[in-house]
Amino acid sequence: MTFDLSARLAERRAAHLHRQRPLLESPQAPLARVDGEELLAFCSNDYLGLANHPEVIRALRDGAARWGVGGGASHLVIGHSGPHHELELALADFTGRPRALLFSTGYMANLAAVTALVGQGDTVLEDRLNHASLLDAGLLSGARFSRYLHNDADSLAKRLEKASGNTLVVSDGVFSMDGDLADLPALCARARRQGAWMMVDDAHGVGPLGATGGGIVEHFGLGLEDVPVLVGTLGKAFGTAGAFVAGSEELIETLIQFARPYIYTTSQPPAVACATLKSLELVRREHWRREHLNRLVARFRQGAEAMGLTLMDSPTPIQPILVGDSARALRLSSLLRRRGLLVGAIRPPTVPAGSARLRVTFSAAHSEAQVERLLEALADGWEELNREPGEDA
Ligand SMILES: *Cc1c(COP(=O)(O)O)cnc(C)c1O
Repeated sequence: MTFDLSARLAERRAAHLHRQRPLLESPQAPLARVDGEELLAFCSNDYLGLANHPEVIRALRDGAARWGVGGGASHLVIGHSGPHHELELALADFTGRPRALLFSTGYMANLAAVTALVGQGDTVLEDRLNHASLLDAGLLSGARFSRYLHNDADSLAKRLEKASGNTLVVSDGVFSMDGDLADLPALCARARRQGAWMMVDDAHGVGPLGATGGGIVEHFGLGLEDVPVLVGTLGKAFGTAGAFVAGSEELIETLIQFARPYIYTTSQPPAVACATLKSLELVRREHWRREHLNRLVARFRQGAEAMGLTLMDSPTPIQPILVGDSARALRLSSLLRRRGLLVGAIRPPTVPAGSARLRVTFSAAHSEAQVERLLEALADGWEELNREPGEDA
């Protein structure tokens, strides 16, 4: 017996599910050099255009000059340095919560929070479209794991009635592949009524959503009692790297004591925390980024709908175009690429079977003229796609 990897890979290709990594040869920006070509990209999560911001770059450089490069150790040994601490205080202030804890990635923050809060004998209930890291965390926790229908408070309520032990309800704030908002007022009310805790992963909401970028909880005006566990990530709208969990003093102390993905890993480079402190300041202060982004999204939706494209119920910078078939989604992506645009095709298993899509994302760094260019290329590409004979025709 041996591992038959070539058969697995061949099967993946045959199903049009094989993935390739485009090679980025420039900083993260709308005009990017990818695999040797200059392309206009609509696929990054750099929603506020901070990944390549001169002040953030300077903060990173100054941070490295002052603090060196590597974190050097885990937080509990000797890797918890001044900038990490200062950033945690700033994130607590930003979220209006007693305390925040910094992580190196959102994936780890999610594994940490879920596995520290529930285990055998407990229950974890998740939206079926939650991010992979949340689903993995639920499985890893050893708690009874069940998924409710997408954004459906009644489906959640049925599962809550059967739950035992400590019960954690987990949802994306903004769903990463659809761009829609979790119906938190309804979900939180159900969870509270049953004494369950709500955990929200707002990786795509912090920054673009809410009056000061506070994300979905700010958008809906929800507090600590509604959402005891709030996760945000820093590699998307903040343009840097890492993540945080914000909540009560006791929650954060529990994570420090018990969360293995927090304890057994090296702290992020302190200079990255210096860069995030700067981007946090820009997120909070520069409202024009959110306003500009909202205008781009509104223009895109109006133009795409006029063309007869199928959009999703999304008020966020994530604006998927539903195509359905994986091969057709790939083809549309390549027709756009031929016109100088980079938009990723998202296929199963990242999204449910039969719902392949182009995931168009906008950034405050895009101009209105660039959105017009996208609409023109889409009109052209869509027409060409529909002129081509289908595979089974
Ligand atoms: C990107 C993402 C994560 C992972 O965050 P990283 O910092 O990239 O590891 C977690 N949850 C959601 C919803 C995400 O979109």
